[in-house]
Amino acid sequence: MTEPIIVDTNTGKKDGQNKCPNCGSTDVTLQPGTGKLRCNYCRTVFDPPKLEGFKDADELEGEVVGSGAADISQPDNTQVTIKCQGCGAEVVIDVTESMNARCHWCREYLSVENQIPNGAVPDSVLPFLLSKQQAQAKIAEFVKQRSFFANKTFKREFTTNNILGVYLPYLVVDANTHSRLEGFGGRVVRTYTRGSGDSKQTYYDIDVYNVGRDFDLAISGLTVEGSADKRNINALANTTNVINAIMPFDVENSVPYNGNYLKGFTSERRDTNVDDLRPLAEAQIGDIARYQANQTAAGYNAGIRWDQEKVDLKGTQWRSAYLPVWLYSYLEVKSSGKRLLHYVAVNARTGETMGSVPVNLSRLWAISIIAEVLSIFGIYLINVFR
Ligand SMILES: [Zn+2]
Ligand SMILES: [Zn+2]
Repeated sequence: MTEPIIVDTNTGKKDGQNKCPNCGSTDVTLQPGTGKLRCNYCRTVFDPPKLEGFKDADELEGEVVGSGAADISQPDNTQVTIKCQGCGAEVVIDVTESMNARCHWCREYLSVENQIPNGAVPDSVLPFLLSKQQAQAKIAEFVKQRSFFANKTFKREFTTNNILGVYLPYLVVDANTHSRLEGFGGRVVRTYTRGSGDSKQTYYDIDVYNVGRDFDLAISGLTVEGSADKRNINALANTTNVINAIMPFDVENSVPYNGNYLKGFTSERRDTNVDDLRPLAEAQIGDIARYQANQTAAGYNAGIRWDQEKVDLKGTQWRSAYLPVWLYSYLEVKSSGKRLLHYVAVNARTGETMGSVPVNLSRLWAISIIAEVLSIFGIYLINVFR
C-alpha cells in the first residue's frame, strides 16, 4: 500500500492566545445560533476560515488523511503546558478536562491548538448552533411526552439546569468508489388463480433476468465514532444508541479547529486510529453501494439477488472532527440498589433529540395488561359478529 497523503491542518498553530482580529482581546467565544466567533470585548463577529486542503470525494485517489487524524502515539500525554504570552507564566491544561484555561496571573485566555499526537486536537469542528436554552426546551419536551410512564422520583427531580454541551470525537470519511454487482432479478409478468373454494391458489409467472450493475459512486461525510468505549456495545450500549439516533450531522459545514469554539463546552478525546476504523467504514461503504444498486433495479418487482459484489476503493479521505451534542443525564437508583444511567441527547445542529427516561414499571405493566385484555376482547367481538 502506498503512503497516505497528509493534509496539514496544524500549520502555524501554536498553543496559547487566540486573539480577536480587531482589538486583540483573547476573550473570544462562539456566538450562539450562528456558528461564528465573537469578541466579547469589542463585539466583532468574525467568520471562521474555510476548511482547506481536502478533496471532493469524486477526485480522490489513494488515501488522504488530515494531520489531526494521525495515529495516536502519546495516549497518556494529556497535560499540555502553555507559556502565557501575556506575562510569561507557565499554565498546565489537562486536555481530558478542558481545552482552555485562564492564566491565573494576567487573566488572559489560553487554549490548546497544537496537534500533539494524543487525539485531543482534531482537524475540524462543527460548532454548536443550538443554544443551551433551545436544548433545554427540546429535552423538557422529550421528557414531557414520556411523563405518563416516567417514575415519580425522576419526575420530581427532573431539571434541565445541569445539561452539558459536549464535543464528541468522530472521523469523517469520504470515498471514491467503483462497484460491480452481478446477480438475478425477477419480474412478475402475470398473476392468476386456479381452483376454487379452499383449494384456490394464486400463481405468479416470473421472468428471471441476469442483472449487472457497474458504476462509480462518490460518498462524502460518513461519520465513524472516534471513541472506543462509545463503540463498545457492552460498556455503554445506552449512549451509543442514543447518539446514533440523533445522527446525521451536517459535517460539510465543519470549520478548521480553533480552541475558542470549545470555551464553555467539554470535549472528549479521540482514542482510536484510522487503521482500527477502516473495516467499519468499508462495511458501511459496501452497504451504501448495494443500496444504490438496488435503487436502480426497482423494476424487478419480484426481487433481486446479488451473487457477486465487488466494491473497489479508488480513494478514501479521513479527517477528525468534533461534533456538538447537548447532553442531559440522570442516575436512577433502583430500590434494589442497582444504578442505571439515563441520557437524553440533542443534536446541536439539527435539534434531533433522543434518550431514555426511568419508567414507572407498575404503570407500564397496567397498560400492557389492559392492551392484552382489549386484544382478547377484540378477537371475541370479531368472532361474535361473524
Ligand atoms: Zn475584539
Ligand atoms: Zn499570563
